[in-house]
Amino acid sequence: TAAFDVEAIRRDFPILDQQINGKPLVYLDNGASSQKPIAVLDAMDRYYREMHSNVHRGAHTLGDRATSAFEGAREKVRAFLNADSTREIIWTRGTTEAINVVANGLARRLKPGDEILVSHMEHHANIVPWQMVAERTGAKVVPVQVTPQGELDLDSFNSLLGDRTRVLALTHVSNVLGTVNPIAPLIERAKAHGVITVIDGAQAVPHFQPDVQALGCDFYVFSSHKMFGPTGVGVLYGKAQLLEEIPPFQGGGEMIERVSFERTTWNVLPYKFEAGTPPVAEAIGLGAAIDYVASLDRKGMEAAEAALLTRANELVATVPGMEVIGTASNKMPVMSFKIAGLHPSDIGTLLDQQGIAIRTGHHCAMPLMDFYGVPGTARASFAFYNTLEEVEQLFTALQKIQRLFA
Ligand code: PMP
Repeated sequence: TAAFDVEAIRRDFPILDQQINGKPLVYLDNGASSQKPIAVLDAMDRYYREMHSNVHRGAHTLGDRATSAFEGAREKVRAFLNADSTREIIWTRGTTEAINVVANGLARRLKPGDEILVSHMEHHANIVPWQMVAERTGAKVVPVQVTPQGELDLDSFNSLLGDRTRVLALTHVSNVLGTVNPIAPLIERAKAHGVITVIDGAQAVPHFQPDVQALGCDFYVFSSHKMFGPTGVGVLYGKAQLLEEIPPFQGGGEMIERVSFERTTWNVLPYKFEAGTPPVAEAIGLGAAIDYVASLDRKGMEAAEAALLTRANELVATVPGMEVIGTASNKMPVMSFKIAGLHPSDIGTLLDQQGIAIRTGHHCAMPLMDFYGVPGTARASFAFYNTLEEVEQLFTALQKIQRLFA
């Protein structure tokens, strides 16, 4: 196969080619949101120029075209995840909404004393909805511990998974640490206990392709905007049988079969969970993002991303007082760090002055910040369109900042 040609790929992302504060943009905030290739912009533009109308109304040709593009995007997501059927692919607003749909849907099954197992490295989106359901039902949210290296503590997992556990809600990849959790064996163990498994794939799908049937999870959720698609849409994958069983989260148009003041019945899957006019253009944009990534050399892309992280790791020693948080053996190209004598938010501001975009703060993972005893971290998160030169620019800038301000 052809070498992974990052310079050619960068031409597909027009936003990358600009100056910020007089310097070429170095975009290393992909964990917060990724940039969009022309293929995605064009697909959405074409949709609005040529075929926009409401979907599933069936009365005219434009509506049929919009519906078929929209449902075509659902099929692309199904294939991407290797789900059994498009009935199992629900459009949501994003990861956050998807987890809320699941948590709300499972509430009826929870009673006082039941336990919802999460981990200490979860994003707030995979903590707070469970806390809200726990409040309603008397169930308890129990966190699996992490090790100082930022891996799941498997002893903690084994001791907490038990007869009271009803739900295991776990991130596939940590947004702070980059850790890839060994979810396949954990899902298997959970299932042996009859536990429902919910995987937060928000930080996984930008880097690799999960296979939900091989994983065997009950639910898998992600956001489009972190995987090169538009904002405003995300995906809830759920096993059809469970989706049939749980109640919908929102009521309204589209999600019903028949409404009367005596009795209202739900539409079939997946529409039962899609109240209101869906994000049609956004779903089509996500479909285009999936096609775009599929057109790249996956192996080359994964190798290129790994090389970015390796180079970053090599350069840590060149910045006095720099410490990486999260040194798992299996991690995605995400680097959270602190530098002695510097506040993370100052690191962010000083880098921005040099055109380099990173994220600073608690990354919506306050329990993890508490675990490491820090108010926040600086985080550089890479995508396949980043270059080794950009990694080097980051470290050259950090060396300078450390020298001048620490
Ligand atoms: N989970 C993880 C691991 C994330 O990184 C994020 C986004 N930072 C979310 C959930 C929430 O995603 P969204 O804001 O797109 O709903």
